[in-house]
Parts: sequence; C-alpha cells; structure tokens
Amino acid sequence: MSAYRTILLVAAMEQESSPLKQSLDFRPATASSRFAVPFSRFEADLGGTRLILSLNGKDRRYGNENVGLEMAALNTYDAIHAYSPDLVINFGTAGAFKDRGAEVGKVFLSKDRFFFHDHRIPLSGYEDYGRGYLPGLDVESFAQALSLPTGIVSSGSSLDFTDRDLEEIHRNGATLKEMEAAGIAWSCYLTGIPFFAIKSVTNLVDKTVSSATEFEKNFAVAVESLTNTTRTVLEAIVRGELPGK
Ligand code: SAH
Repeated sequence: MSAYRTILLVAAMEQESSPLKQSLDFRPATASSRFAVPFSRFEADLGGTRLILSLNGKDRRYGNENVGLEMAALNTYDAIHAYSPDLVINFGTAGAFKDRGAEVGKVFLSKDRFFFHDHRIPLSGYEDYGRGYLPGLDVESFAQALSLPTGIVSSGSSLDFTDRDLEEIHRNGATLKEMEAAGIAWSCYLTGIPFFAIKSVTNLVDKTVSSATEFEKNFAVAVESLTNTTRTVLEAIVRGELPGK
C-alpha cells in the first residue's frame, strides 16, 4: 500500500502529456480557482491512488503552451492548494549531455537537488540562492530497483544556451537541462511536499548545434518513452515501492 494517497503530476506541454492522459484514462477535474487561470486539470484513479494531472495551459495572447519556470511554479503552487497532494512529480522533456550517458529518448529520474543555470547573482550571500539548490526527494534506490538512470536537473528560461549557462550547468553537475523543474521544486519546498522529476531526452546539447531543430525532430520518440516510464513509475509507487515520507 502506498503512503502517497494523492499524487500531483505537473507537465508543461499538452503534447508531452496527452499520451499519458489517454493511457491512464484521465477525465477533467473540477475547476477550483476563482481566477481565470489557464491551468488545465484532470484526474484519474490508479489502484486506489488519486492522480491529478495539471498542465500549465496556453497563453491567451499567443496561443502557445505556457512553458517555463514562472508558469510551472504558479501552476504547481495553485494545484497544491487545490488538491493537497502527498507527492508532486514533474514529467517532461529535456536537453542532456551524451558525455554524461544520455541518449535521445532515454528517461532519467531526478537527483535530490534542483538548480538554475541562468540566475546569476554575484553578490555576497546570494550566489547559492541564485543557483537554487532546491530540495528534491531522493529516489536513487527506487530508480535502481526499476533500472532507471538518475541525473541532476538544471533549469533555465531558454531553450538554447550561452557559454555562461553551459559553465553553470556543468558546475551544477547536471545531466539534464530544461525549463520547469526548479520552479516546481521551489513551490514544493515552500509547501513541504516531496517532489521529483521524470525527464526524457529530446536533444544532446553537447553533440548537436541547434536544440530547437533536434527538439522538434526527436519530440515524438522522447514522449513515447516518457509516457511508458511515467506509467511504470506510477504503478511502482501505487504498489508501495517508493519509501514513504
Ligand atoms: N517548440 C516548442 C517549444 C518548447 S520549449 C513548441 O512548439 O511548443 C521546450 C520545452 O521542452 C520546455 O518545457 C523544456 O522544459 C523542454 N526542453 C526540451 N529540451 C530542452 C532543452 N534542450 N533546453 C531547455 N528545455 C528543453
């Protein structure tokens, strides 16, 4: 029996999450916010565990998906208030480093710290705050039991990167580079809810020039493995294989 009765799943993009939504038979969840926020919410039951899926939704002006740190943090904070989850999981795509064992479509679980690589505040006492060091759940032995690799996730606000970003990503010891996890970790840190991430690789940052082209080319492959692994992880949690809080 799982210690986690309600699990909140946070995803940035509709296209990242719709196969999981279908495969676990999610249906619309009751709207709870008194504001016209764009977050879209679904719920499902998996072996007696309540699953809430909360998407960042679309931007009213541009019609695109609300990717990025701010919307991910807001969505998570709002959903935590609405559903009081025992655990938060972010699943999505990421860029990664071949030199750290990544391949396109390979899926990693996060390590127990989340970082930013573009929050540079070179003032005494602010450097580590800028880097984040936000706590995550240690899922190392759970990942090992499922034969899944783990890697540090570093978040920033751009799909591409500058030399300084790259320097910071390496300093953070990161295998994965994406645009939401540390924002979500911040909301979970504030509210004391355990959190980890599941990230599938769309592009190899150290091997190809354009993250954008590779992202588009490999997106479908990455989402397929992301969906399968997220299901496997959820089924294992429901069986009680993730140690309780
Ligand atoms: N072209 C996309 C835009 C996606 S932005 C569209 O049509 O909507 C990239 C999204 O994928 C973010 O949510 C981010 O978390 C993730 N991502 C995948 N690869 C990434 C990389 N190399 N760097 C940063 N974020 C990445």
